[in-house]
Amino acid sequence: MSENIISIKDLHVHFPIRTLILQRTIGIVKAVDGVSLDIKKGETLGLVGESGCGKTTIGRAIVRLNDPTSGEILYNGKNILDSREEDVKKHRKELQIVFQDPYSSLNPRHTVRNMLQEVLTVKMGMSREDAAARSDQLLTQVGLSPIYGLRYPHEFSGGQRQRVAIARSLALEPKFLVCDEAVSALDVSIQSQIINLLMDLKDQYGMTYLFISHALNVVEHISDRVAVMYLGKIVEQAPTEDIFREPVHPYTQALLSAIPILSGRKQRERIILKGEVPSAANVPSGCRFHTRCPYAKELCSQVEPELTEVAPGHFCACHLVNGEV
Ligand code: SF4
Repeated sequence: MSENIISIKDLHVHFPIRTLILQRTIGIVKAVDGVSLDIKKGETLGLVGESGCGKTTIGRAIVRLNDPTSGEILYNGKNILDSREEDVKKHRKELQIVFQDPYSSLNPRHTVRNMLQEVLTVKMGMSREDAAARSDQLLTQVGLSPIYGLRYPHEFSGGQRQRVAIARSLALEPKFLVCDEAVSALDVSIQSQIINLLMDLKDQYGMTYLFISHALNVVEHISDRVAVMYLGKIVEQAPTEDIFREPVHPYTQALLSAIPILSGRKQRERIILKGEVPSAANVPSGCRFHTRCPYAKELCSQVEPELTEVAPGHFCACHLVNGEV
């Protein structure tokens, strides 16, 4: 688990705010604002943070659903943002995403078997016979009877639809899967079934996951490492056990103080942050967390802290933790 499958370098994804009538640009939403991140082959990286912090935008940029403003996304060492047309097609197969609401990404007019067979024949070049056999196999692998292939998307429950969406991604034999709040809309018992399925498939197919979620207990269960985002930036990144046992960034401490304590871990005092998350169209100067941080000093509003290694594999962007204030 040492080679990076994805390396994000100084990624910016900005969206212009335009007036309705003349389409004049009156501002910029800095959804992702200078993120660098490595994801090792075979690992699951959990990406957490409040709504609007930019985590989904990163996932969508990796699978080319968003066009970055600047920066690089290296897939197996090659920048996918300036790839040739044939490489883009290959990347689109190998880099897949599973969404929170699979219903919107499934064609309501096709049975599941037709949908899978179309993917297998058109995108994987299989014969109709092979595609039929493979679609039954895929349904079995995600825990559905092949007979379910005759159903339409609306005839499934939420958990079953998510299994179908996973089967469709698997049909393309992905190397890297972005799970964007993939279990957030499901009941807790169904959530754990889908998590177990994802973990089994990962071992079976040797995949790598970027697991985006606000459900911290799920992230702790599934991830090897965790990165925490605040307002378009990574503020802390560490192996899962380290970050959940001893978060060092004040934002991570507040975030993790909200989850129930498991036995054997020190009881944390609940930290309630004051105020709202500032707008990504009006990012605070210096440390972008300073408007809500209980430890903010003068320097914090003036100078942006660097992401610095504070322990082996544990990175944090905070002047206080880095001993600068
Ligand atoms: Fe808080 Fe300052 Fe650290 Fe930012 S740099 S998290 S404001 S102490």
